[in-house]
Amino acid sequence: TQGASVIDGKAFAEDLRARIAVAAAQFEVHAGRKAGLAVVLVGEDPASQVYVRSKGKQTVECGMNSFEHKLDENTDEGALLDLVERLNADPAVDGILVQLPLPAHINEQEVISAISPDKDVDGFHIINSGRLSVGLPGFVPCTPLGCLMLLKDKLGSLCGLDAVVIGRSNIVGKPMAALLLAESCTVTIAHSRTKDLPDVVRRADIIVAAVGRAEMVKGDWIKPGATVIDVGINRLPPSETSPKGKLVGDVDYASAVQVAGAITPVPGGVGPMTIAVLLRNTLVAAHRNAGVAFDE
Ligand code: NDP
Repeated sequence: TQGASVIDGKAFAEDLRARIAVAAAQFEVHAGRKAGLAVVLVGEDPASQVYVRSKGKQTVECGMNSFEHKLDENTDEGALLDLVERLNADPAVDGILVQLPLPAHINEQEVISAISPDKDVDGFHIINSGRLSVGLPGFVPCTPLGCLMLLKDKLGSLCGLDAVVIGRSNIVGKPMAALLLAESCTVTIAHSRTKDLPDVVRRADIIVAAVGRAEMVKGDWIKPGATVIDVGINRLPPSETSPKGKLVGDVDYASAVQVAGAITPVPGGVGPMTIAVLLRNTLVAAHRNAGVAFDE
């Protein structure tokens, strides 16, 4: 085999952000205000702090307002729900994102349900997951929507292709499967109880791995020429060559790249797409909230 072509999610995301910046500037002219994204962080989780910082930075770079709300680890659920209500009512706020995971004493589902579905740019509200499953316009979770954009850019029409999604979480696996079904793929959802996972994966033209297990999907599970989207972000234990621990996906890249037709690397594949899609969803929300047409 000749080896896979590498899908450059970083470049794709940069290009998407450049287009969002142009559209955000046009929105400001038509609406007389900037689009705005509110991000709520409860507690000090280091990974969440990094995400929130890059979200804020990229929001501003795209010409939108970023409103950051950092709450103490011990904030009670009532105070968080009050903040969400204020953001729901604030006309300067088009999108609301509550960074997950929340501290254990807060019920995540209650908080997500409190966000106005029209500002739910993460697409986690059951109204938006319902809209996705019945094919109505709504907000789609950012990571799977980013994966779909990369797939369509690479393959064009996905109609009739066999797709296997490994993982059934509400934020990645399930919405990914719904998106692929809407593109008329034949979709299989695999998970920890799936029998003969390598055989299930072998029939796929499209493989989306969203498991959270380092380098689990091996090259000999992959049909030659298949397109592989690796959502996983796993840090290996520190080694001499990588004192902080190397970042790897759910796919064993070294063996998969020999067999696949196209593959996303980790880092630099799916990861950079997530925030870019979040900004796109925020801009879509802004147009809807302001009653301004959006030409996507
Ligand atoms: P979850 O832990 O919520 O879900 C993992 C899924 O994988 C579950 O459905 C689980 O099955 C399944 N699974 C676990 N072990 C196996 C196994 N041995 N064989 C088959 N399936 C298995 O994870 P997320 O969906 O939130 O995230 C998945 C990965 O994607 C993580 O590495 C995460 O860091 C990464 N991620 C990356 C993002 C980005 O790029 N921006 C965004 C979000 C996530 P079961 O349901 O049966 O337990």
